[in-house]
Amino acid sequence: MVILNTCHIREKAAEKVYSELGRLAVMKAAHAAEGRPMLIAVAGCVAQAEGEEMLRRAKVVDVVVGPQSYHRLPELVARAARGGGAVLDTEFPAESKFDHLPEARGGQEVSAFLSVQEGCDRFCSFCVVPYTRGAEYSRPLAALLDEARQLIEAGAREITLLGQNVNAYHGCAGGLGGLIRWLAELDGLDRIRYTTSHPRDMDEDLIRAHGEVAALMPSLHLPVQSGSDRVLAAMNRRHTADHYRGVVARLRETRPDLALSGDFIVGFPGETDDDFAATLALVGEIGYAQAYSFKYSPRPGTPAATLPDQVPEAVKAARLEALQSLLRAQQAAFNRRFVGRVLPVLFERAGRHPGQLVGRSPYMQSVHATAPGAAIGEIVDLRIIEAGTNSLAAAPADGLARPTVSSSVA
Ligand code: SAH
Ligand code: SF4
Repeated sequence: MVILNTCHIREKAAEKVYSELGRLAVMKAAHAAEGRPMLIAVAGCVAQAEGEEMLRRAKVVDVVVGPQSYHRLPELVARAARGGGAVLDTEFPAESKFDHLPEARGGQEVSAFLSVQEGCDRFCSFCVVPYTRGAEYSRPLAALLDEARQLIEAGAREITLLGQNVNAYHGCAGGLGGLIRWLAELDGLDRIRYTTSHPRDMDEDLIRAHGEVAALMPSLHLPVQSGSDRVLAAMNRRHTADHYRGVVARLRETRPDLALSGDFIVGFPGETDDDFAATLALVGEIGYAQAYSFKYSPRPGTPAATLPDQVPEAVKAARLEALQSLLRAQQAAFNRRFVGRVLPVLFERAGRHPGQLVGRSPYMQSVHATAPGAAIGEIVDLRIIEAGTNSLAAAPADGLARPTVSSSVA
């Protein structure tokens, strides 16, 4: 059985599914010729968005299952295997999949993910998420604390809280800030992160948590999408560039060393040269440690897809290149600042060279080092000796690598 887990956020990601299915069709036919049946399932948001259309377009598919129905997969597979034809489940069941999925089992991940929230009610005009993932849903606190304890037991020292709009979390008093304070009390958990946030949902308590909770790492992914208020309004973002500047200023008051990351869309319908210049200016002002940027991709069923004034491909490409070269320069400059400094690095995996380990700094930088005596799962003080755009090289801070007691930054 092959399961394709799919993303619908941009056209390029969605297109890949059908080319992959073409390749799998050949494999399935070869298997059938040898009398060995093979099942193909498509999961994720392309499955959710296309539903029956996918079964019509790709006869090779046996199971189409949307993200809210993963707990029903065993039953769907059994039905498909019995041979009654393809099966489809793209419902939004009343029961939560989280109550039915098996508990997290010892993946031995040093850095683990915990889904705390799904779906989104914000309806940015370019985005498919509210349609494919449905309405905002926050998991209850008790279930999250249980799962976090299991992850720690299985070896996690860092947990990243996940959600399509994670800071809209409202499963406990105090929202996401409240949840982070609960998690910070758990023994053995050294590092907490969360992603992805909307600027409108950065409430005061969450901002304060960045200054008050030692385990909350000083890096934040806070997408702004555009620096032009006209474009932000057309995107239905419900914040202005100034609102974003204000949120960042408050965050930096609370946590001056906060490393910011973001998402940007260039070539949104109607975006002029002046609008784009406003994006470059905002990036120049804010200063990002890292960022993702994309050409606007019209998504079926979203309001922006049918707007007039779609921006020509060549203009999008030129703007993307200009933005990415600025963001790359900022990332390289951010990394260079750390050369000569000592950072606590959480080792996550073995590197490419013998004896080399790879981990992350508090600021999410990937750090590689040869640190005799250090092991995966340890947080070790390392001196940064070299900085590239995408990673740092480090060496033991004072000859020998010693695990630090806590992960808080000096
Ligand atoms: N919930 C997050 C991000 C969701 S999708 C937020 O609100 O910021 C991740 C990123 O994909 C977005 O931040 C956006 O920059 C990009 N994206 C979403 N839809 C897109 C589209 N139609 N075209 C291009 N980029 C898109
Ligand atoms: Fe999409 Fe994020 Fe906007 Fe929600 S807040 S609609 S997930 S871009």
